[in-house]
Amino acid sequence: MKPAIRKIALERMEILISNAISNARTNPELSQRQAQLARRISTRHNIRMPYDLRMVFCKKCKSFIAPGINSRIRLGRASVKSIRISCYLCGHTYRKIISHSSK
Ligand SMILES: [Zn+2]
Repeated sequence: MKPAIRKIALERMEILISNAISNARTNPELSQRQAQLARRISTRHNIRMPYDLRMVFCKKCKSFIAPGINSRIRLGRASVKSIRISCYLCGHTYRKIISHSSK
């Protein structure tokens, strides 16, 4: 695949996810559609979503879960630097380790 296509696809996914997050409270249906569209781009172009985009999808039911809206986020112990994300739709809880060295 051409690097340019990959870059555009990645940018589109980032825009869709950030729109989905900002629409989650006011327009949940639209935000679900935007998130699913981002997922479809990832599948169609066989591009793995960056970690920060993937974390808005429940690992179990694959639904889009907006942080703090249809998921619950709890901070772990300060020394561990992790958050726990619970999906309101299926009840699955997963842990995200907040990395402090990347970027
Ligand atoms: Zn779920």
